[in-house]
Amino acid sequence: MKRTEEMSFWERLYILQVLKGLSVTNYHFIRNLALHIAHFFGLAKARRASVTTQYPEQRKVYAEDYRGSHRLTLRADGSVRCTSCFLCATACPAQCIYIEAGEHPDPHIEKYPLRYEIDTLRCIYCGLCVEACPCDAIRMDTCVHPRIWGFDRRDFVETKETLMHRSRVIAEKGREGNMNEMMEWYAEQAREIYNPLRGELRTYSERELLEKREEQPAEPELTVIDRRHPPHGNAK
Ligand code: SF4
Ligand code: SF4
Repeated sequence: MKRTEEMSFWERLYILQVLKGLSVTNYHFIRNLALHIAHFFGLAKARRASVTTQYPEQRKVYAEDYRGSHRLTLRADGSVRCTSCFLCATACPAQCIYIEAGEHPDPHIEKYPLRYEIDTLRCIYCGLCVEACPCDAIRMDTCVHPRIWGFDRRDFVETKETLMHRSRVIAEKGREGNMNEMMEWYAEQAREIYNPLRGELRTYSERELLEKREEQPAEPELTVIDRRHPPHGNAK
């Protein structure tokens, strides 16, 4: 790449470069449009037009080792397998795993996560957390992308319950069942999206405020005194 002082006058104007970029964009736009119209009428089928995969309605076939959404694996009794060793959080280059450890009631198990959260907006899906885990407690074998719908940053934080639930769904219904559940959730959001009164449209901060207000004791009811009709005892 040339440095600014090495550029000619016309190069420094950038107009030619902008026009060049626009001509490439327009060429592909018009070519694809023409090809799609031709395909619609059964013409030029041999010439491939560019298409965008309409995820999640359309999905490509992913490789078996595709790194999808995370899940926390479960023990035979359904409890979380994670022992809160923090190795995944330490290995995570995006620092998007948050763990709060607690004492496990079983004396043979030292700890378990009271809270385990992954901020999917920060995650780069490198898989280092999975590799770091010494007890196969976290996996990315779901073959689905994380949820792509939210109204607040915290809507994209996957909690321990969500990550455990994913393992249950996969055990019961398989990967397709997991995907179907996510599709149902998307459809529900789409149905409700235009209703401004629905709870989910509120951001997390608003929800927290509302919850706090609900927790506060109700104010005593005011007694309305009608001064136009004083009690008989005081009437003069
Ligand atoms: S996939 Fe990578 S970035 Fe995402 S949580 Fe795991 S270690 Fe962190
Ligand atoms: S998921 Fe694995 S690596 Fe991470 S805290 Fe739990 S046991 Fe440790």
